[in-house]
Amino acid sequence: MNPDNKILNEQTGKHITDVTESAMLPTSFGIFKIMAFKDDQNKEHAAVYMGDITSDEPVLSRIHSECLTGDTMFSLKCDCGFQLETAMKQIAKEGRGVLLYVRQEGRGIGLFNKIKAYHLQDKGLDTVDANLQLGLPADARHYEICAEMFNYLGVKAIKLMTNNPLKVDEMKKYKINVVERVAIEVGRNKYNEGYLDTKEDRMGHILMQGHHKKQED
Ligand SMILES: [Zn+2]
Repeated sequence: MNPDNKILNEQTGKHITDVTESAMLPTSFGIFKIMAFKDDQNKEHAAVYMGDITSDEPVLSRIHSECLTGDTMFSLKCDCGFQLETAMKQIAKEGRGVLLYVRQEGRGIGLFNKIKAYHLQDKGLDTVDANLQLGLPADARHYEICAEMFNYLGVKAIKLMTNNPLKVDEMKKYKINVVERVAIEVGRNKYNEGYLDTKEDRMGHILMQGHHKKQED
């Protein structure tokens, strides 16, 4: 336990229990800085950022929930890996931005349950029904920690890269100034289009390349 926790909590909010110093993180896309955070569930999250993110100019931002299969195994079953890559490229292109990498695998149900849900999806269930059949919520993610991370980093306003209006609402709920939602629609393929359609139909995602768009054309 960090003895400065009390002070840290006063600076950041109630869930962050420890924070590292920042370190350089050179990547294929550019040179970022990285900082790690611990929360009160003992989960470790990361902020990867570039440029002066503390000025009044809104910061291009992404809240990325961990997806082991998408982020590290190049899975085509979802769009997570594509979104991670695009977000980092966009931040590098602007020379300024923040990516919060949040450890809530499988929309918060964990890897074990996600793979169980994949098994049910192989049998024809969609991503929502598979979770429900396992007795799990369709989306168990929480975003308060993200607001605390933005605050700790000194970010004053954000342009949030997401197709999920819920994330915008959540950030606003925790008093983060979201000035714009930036669509991040990448990686649609034959293995994930059903999943993306479900996110559009049943989870409120806004997808311009989705099946509704195709029907209108
Ligand atoms: Zn994924």
